[in-house]
Amino acid sequence: MSKFWSAIVHELTPYVPGEQPKINNLVKLNTNENPYGPSPRVLAALEAEVGDSLRLYPDPTSGRVVQAVANFYDVPPTHVFVGNGSDEVLAHVFHALLKHEAPILFPDITYSFYPVYCGLYEVEYKTIALGDEFQINVQDYLQPNGGIIFPNPNAPTGRALPLADIERLLQTNTESVVVIDEAYVDFGAESAVGLVQQYPNLLVTHTLSKARSLAGLRVGYAIGQPHLIEALVRVKDSFNSYPLDRFAISGAVAAIEDKAYFEETCRKVVATREKLVTELRNLGFVVLPSAANFIFARHAERGGADLAAMLRERNIVVRHFAKPARISDFLRITIGTDEQSQLLVQAMKEILQN
Ligand code: PMP
Repeated sequence: MSKFWSAIVHELTPYVPGEQPKINNLVKLNTNENPYGPSPRVLAALEAEVGDSLRLYPDPTSGRVVQAVANFYDVPPTHVFVGNGSDEVLAHVFHALLKHEAPILFPDITYSFYPVYCGLYEVEYKTIALGDEFQINVQDYLQPNGGIIFPNPNAPTGRALPLADIERLLQTNTESVVVIDEAYVDFGAESAVGLVQQYPNLLVTHTLSKARSLAGLRVGYAIGQPHLIEALVRVKDSFNSYPLDRFAISGAVAAIEDKAYFEETCRKVVATREKLVTELRNLGFVVLPSAANFIFARHAERGGADLAAMLRERNIVVRHFAKPARISDFLRITIGTDEQSQLLVQAMKEILQN
C-alpha cells in the first residue's frame, strides 16, 4: 500500500544498525558499546527520577545537560546543543547546516549514516577516497563544497587524524561548516573542541554512548559557536520540543560529572585494545592503528565474511561490511573486556587451524 507514502519515502535507503541479538551468553562485539556499565552515580540519578515528576514534561532545553557539557569542556553554555543520541544531533546538523548548492564532502569509507541523512534531507554529497593506508588526507577536501563531515577517529577504520591536519583544513576551508564527529575521540584521538572559539565554521559532535557507557540512554551533543547552535535549536524546536526525557537529562549530567569513572573506563578499554591488537597481529591479522573502542582488521589469508560467520557459530558477533570491496575482508571488532578478548582470540585460533 505504498501509494499512501509521501514521494520521498520511496527514495529512502535507511541505515541498518548492528544486530542486537536476543541470545544469552553472546560475546557481543558488533556495535561499539562499552563493556563496562555506566557510572554508579548515573544509576543513582536514574533511580532518583522515578516518581511523581514523570507526569511533567522535561525541560525542553535540557539546560542541566548543556551546563554540564559547558563545564566539562570549559566553553560557554551558548556553545552547546544536546539531542537524543548523536544520531539525532547529526540529523539536525545535516538539515540545519549542510544543505547548500554545492555538495558536502565526506570519506568514501565512513559512518554509513551520513549518506542516509543526505537522502532524507536531500543534501547533495560527494565522497572522497581514503588514502592507501585508509587515512583521511585533508588536502583532498580543499575543493568547493557545501560542508565537510567526518568522524575523528574515523569509523569503521578507527584511524585518527592529528589535530594539526584539522586545523589546516579549517584555515583553508572557511566558507562552509566543518563537522568533526568525535563519537570515539576519548579512546585516543585529539579533540577539536579547543578550536571552536577560533573557527566560526567548526562544529564538534559527541555522544555518551561510547566512552560513557550510555548507548541505552540516547544522549549526544554538539559544540560550536552560538550562530551554529542557534541553527540546530531552530530545527530541533521545529521537530521535537523534548528530545531528552527526565531520565536522560539526569543520567547524562551524572555521567558527565563523574570524570574519574569515565577516565578509568577509557583507560581499561585502551589497555585491552592494545593487547588484542598484538595478539591478532601474531595470528596473521593486518590491524589498522586504532584510536577508538574498536579495531578494523583483516586476515592475510582468510575472507572477512567467512571469519565473521565462523565467529558467529561460536557465539561471537563482530561487524562485517560487504561493501565497498576494499573493506570486504575486514572485521570491525568492538573492544570488550579482557575476558571477551581472550574468548575472541581463542575462537580465532581454532578457526585458523582449520
Ligand atoms: N557517529 C559515529 C561515527 C558512530 O559510529 C555512531 C554510533 N553508531 C554515532 C555517531 C551515533 O551514536 P549515538 O547515536 O549512539 O550517539
